[in-house]
Amino acid sequence: MALKFGVLTSPVEDVVKQIKVAKEMGFDFIEIGIEPPMGDPEILIAKKDTILGLLKEYGMFTIGHTAWFCDLGSLVEDLRRAWIEEAKNYIDAAHKLGIKLLNFHAHYASEAYMEIDKYKKQVFDNLVDSMEELMGYAKQFDIKLMLENIPSKKMQLNDFRYIVDRLPGLGVHLDVGHAFITGGMECVSRFIRTFGERIAHVHVHDNNGEEDQHLGIGKGKINYEKVVEELRKIGYDKTITFEVFFGGKKALLESRKKIEKLWK
Ligand SMILES: [Zn+2]
Repeated sequence: MALKFGVLTSPVEDVVKQIKVAKEMGFDFIEIGIEPPMGDPEILIAKKDTILGLLKEYGMFTIGHTAWFCDLGSLVEDLRRAWIEEAKNYIDAAHKLGIKLLNFHAHYASEAYMEIDKYKKQVFDNLVDSMEELMGYAKQFDIKLMLENIPSKKMQLNDFRYIVDRLPGLGVHLDVGHAFITGGMECVSRFIRTFGERIAHVHVHDNNGEEDQHLGIGKGKINYEKVVEELRKIGYDKTITFEVFFGGKKALLESRKKIEKLWK
């Protein structure tokens, strides 16, 4: 497989319109945000035929991206169960849209949990249990699940590893911008070296190391020359989504150009 570039749909805009724009911009795939309000499973399923028709016409494929706030590690058991049921709706929608790779986030609801080892472990163990159940559910549709690292200094690489090490079939979804906030370029490099071939998908965007700004590549402090070097070292040749939320089409195209140039 050769490296492919894509964009993520916004949950507050019409998905069909965004697929057309992504094609016009020359992206290889679309990462569909299965997230309310506009990416709600019911809405996506209602537009299924149009979406599948367009993708076929354009020769594009899809990856699925669920809401970052899915609280699958919740310490409130009723809420954790409710999130699992909601996540199953996301998996159903992904299946109907022909998605074979779907992400969830290593989300936690309160910073306070991360301060006390006992609660931190409880959140992580809950995440493991929830993901295990969801992986079992997704298996019937031949959908592979992956877990994305979040922009937190309190969830370090070893914490993320605690979760994915307990779930052998789970893909690792590296968000470079998030890893940079967690621990700078050292964390980004360690992330890539630690997980290597297990990295199933990558998100790129830039920031100042403090806030999850989702800027264009080169507009923040991330050394993308180094990122590309590390990814090339592990022979990464899968998918990269440009999660650049500011600067419109121009910022997206400039970002892609920069990564393409570095890759060569
Ligand atoms: Zn991301």
